[in-house]
Amino acid sequence: MQRRIFARGLLLILILSSLAAGCAPKRLAPLEPGAEPPPQGSSLVAPTLLGVGLVEAMEHLTLTVSGPAVVLDSQSRKRLHRFDQDGGKLQCSRQGDFVVWTVAGARSEHSGVILQPTDPSQRVTHDDKDYRGEFLVIPSPKTGGLTLINQVGLESYLCGVVPWEIGRHGKDKKAALSAQAVAARTYTISHLGSRRARGFDVYASVMDQVYKGSRHEDPLCNEAIEETAGLVLLSNGRLVDAYYSACCGGHSSRVEKVWPRKAETYLVNHLDSTGKGQKAFCSESKYFQWVEKWNAGRLEEILQETLPAYLAYMTMGERPAWARPTFTSRKPGVNPMQPGKLLDLEITDYTPSGRVAQLQVHTEAGIYHVRGDRVRWVLAPASGKPVILRSAGFELEKVRRDGQLTEITAQGRGFGHGIGLCQTGALEMAAQGYSAAEILVHYYPGSVLRQLATK
Ligand SMILES: [Zn+2]
Repeated sequence: MQRRIFARGLLLILILSSLAAGCAPKRLAPLEPGAEPPPQGSSLVAPTLLGVGLVEAMEHLTLTVSGPAVVLDSQSRKRLHRFDQDGGKLQCSRQGDFVVWTVAGARSEHSGVILQPTDPSQRVTHDDKDYRGEFLVIPSPKTGGLTLINQVGLESYLCGVVPWEIGRHGKDKKAALSAQAVAARTYTISHLGSRRARGFDVYASVMDQVYKGSRHEDPLCNEAIEETAGLVLLSNGRLVDAYYSACCGGHSSRVEKVWPRKAETYLVNHLDSTGKGQKAFCSESKYFQWVEKWNAGRLEEILQETLPAYLAYMTMGERPAWARPTFTSRKPGVNPMQPGKLLDLEITDYTPSGRVAQLQVHTEAGIYHVRGDRVRWVLAPASGKPVILRSAGFELEKVRRDGQLTEITAQGRGFGHGIGLCQTGALEMAAQGYSAAEILVHYYPGSVLRQLATK
C-alpha cells in the first residue's frame, strides 16, 4: 500500500513538473504545488465500494450472472444461494418491506439481497448492461417497488462514466480524458452519501453522472483513469465541487449566479481562452452558438406547464431565499399556477459571464421572475429537442404585430450550465498540448491535485 501511495505521489510530481517543463504552447496561471494543507478527514479516503442507483420503483428485477456467484442477505451477509459455473438468473420482487428472491424453486424474503460473483472479474447483468462489482437489491425507500444498486469500486465506476461524459477520442486528446477522470472522481467523492435517503450514493444518470456499466468501456479512457487513479482536486483543504458541462460558450460562470449555492473561489466567471480577445478553446463546438425560435402561441402553451413547474421547484430547500420573489400577481385572487396569455418576456439581469440572471415573463396572471439556470427549463424548445434550452447564455429578439407578441428568438452560446470544466474546451486544450493538470487549473482556478488515501 505504501508503495502504491508513493507511486501515485511520484505521478503527481511528474504531472506538476510538466507545468514547468513548458510542454504547452501558451501559458496559463500556474498551479501552486504545496499551497494546500495536507488532506484531512474521512472524506479524502477512497470508498471501498460506491453505491450507484441504477433503477428505482421496479416491480420485478431479473439479474443475471454468467459464472459462479453467491446470493447474500445484505444485513447478515449470510449465504442464501450459490450459483455454479454456469451462473443463472435471480428474480426479485417486493412484498411489504421485504425483497422476495427466487432461484429455481428456492425462495425467501429479506430486507435486502446481494448478488456477488465469486470471481471479481466476472460481471453481473441487468437490462442488457454488464456491471463490474455486485448488485444490491433493496425495497425502494421513497416509493413502492425495488431499487437496484451497483456496488462497485470507485475506479471501476469511473470506467463506466468517463466515455459517456466526454466521449471517445484519439490519443491527441488524452489529457482531456485524464482531466475529465479527475473531475468525475472528485465529483463522486464530494457527493458520496448525497442520495443516502434513497439507499445509494449517486444516480447513474445526468442527475449525477451518466454511468452505463462495463460493456462499452473505452481503452483510452480506462488508461486515463488508471494513470490518474486516486487523484482528486482540492481547494482550501476541501474537495472541489467539480462540476463540468459540454460547452461554456467562451465564458465560465460563477456558481452562485446560476444555482442557489454559495460562492466558491474556483467556480468563477472566467474566459475560456488564454486572455481577452483570444479565441475561445470551445469556439469550434457546434454548440458554441445556437438559435432557438418560438412562435408566441407555442411558447404560451409551453409556459402553461413550465412556469407552474418553476414555482413548485423554487419552494424547496435553499431556493426560496435565492429566488424571491418568484411571482408578482397582476390583481388579487390570481392563481399563479395558471399563467394564461403571454404578454411579454424581458431579461432584466445578466451575470458577468453573459448568462441570464433574471428573466421576467409577463402573463395575464402576473410577472414570473425566473432566476439563473432555471430559465432553461422555463423556455423549453418547441421541438422538445433538447428538452431544455441549451444554455442560459442568450439574448432575446421579439417580433410584434399590432402590439401583439408573435415570435421570440433566442440567440445563444454554449451547451450546459457553464460551471467548472468545459468539455469541448478541455478537448481543444489537450489537442493544443496542454497537460491534464493545466486543463484542470484553468477550469478550477486555484485548485490543487491530491492523492486520496485508501482504506
Ligand atoms: Zn468553453
